[in-house]
Amino acid sequence: MSVWPGMVMVMVAQAQIDGVRVAGHAGRVRREIGGDWWILLVRRVSRGRSRVHRGRPVARDLGSPWQDTVASERTGWRTRAAWLYGESVFAVDYRICRRCRIGWVESPATDEPYRRCGLAAAGLAALRAERPGLIWHTLGGHFRESRPFWETVGSGIPGGYRQGPLCPHVDLG
Ligand SMILES: [Zn+2]
Repeated sequence: MSVWPGMVMVMVAQAQIDGVRVAGHAGRVRREIGGDWWILLVRRVSRGRSRVHRGRPVARDLGSPWQDTVASERTGWRTRAAWLYGESVFAVDYRICRRCRIGWVESPATDEPYRRCGLAAAGLAALRAERPGLIWHTLGGHFRESRPFWETVGSGIPGGYRQGPLCPHVDLG
């Protein structure tokens, strides 16, 4: 099949429409129960054979536009992801300490044709809406190119997604 520029433009336009649509449903989430023994087993057995982690959260498909799963690469974390056509198009890892009332988010990543659809902002807003009153941080620092994004989504948010270390309750090494 040959691909011509007009076709690519149509595909990108459709991706934008799909992305905005999914961003609008960020409050409807299907959840995987945390810490299932079989998940831990699969993770242990597949260690070393699973694909290389490049910092991007790895999400499992639960067959819903927005899904919340046990994080594959960060023990104790969860992954919130948006799915389209059987693929994860946005994902962010997060961690909550109920005692300190702090949430951390890490490595939000959106696939290229779905950027600028508001997926990341909608996903983070849904996490905040589910847990009102939390202070929100990121674990790592912000790359220069991502600073405008964090300033926008962190505006008016307690903690502002500024870098903050894990508290002793969740920092188990
Ligand atoms: Zn804590």
